[in-house]
Amino acid sequence: MPINWFGETIWIPWQWGLLFVLPLIFLVMFIAACFLTKNTYACPICGHCFRKKWYHLIFSAHTMGDRWLRCPQCRKRDWCSLKEHSL
Ligand SMILES: [Zn+2]
Repeated sequence: MPINWFGETIWIPWQWGLLFVLPLIFLVMFIAACFLTKNTYACPICGHCFRKKWYHLIFSAHTMGDRWLRCPQCRKRDWCSLKEHSL
């Protein structure tokens, strides 16, 4: 894996790059999850407000305010809008 270090190209084994990148990805996901679990979402079908576990939120499709989630009350999947923001 070539790394451009101030104009000089140095070669390091690609496994090393993985070693640096993986903990960083996990850290970012962990911080994001901490904030996400505090968010409350509202079901557009029945109006039920709910919170989801971090593993539901991390892997769900989302836009700026809406998230593709299953409502725990009516069991329907839809775009649930963000009701309360943790930030
Ligand atoms: Zn619902």
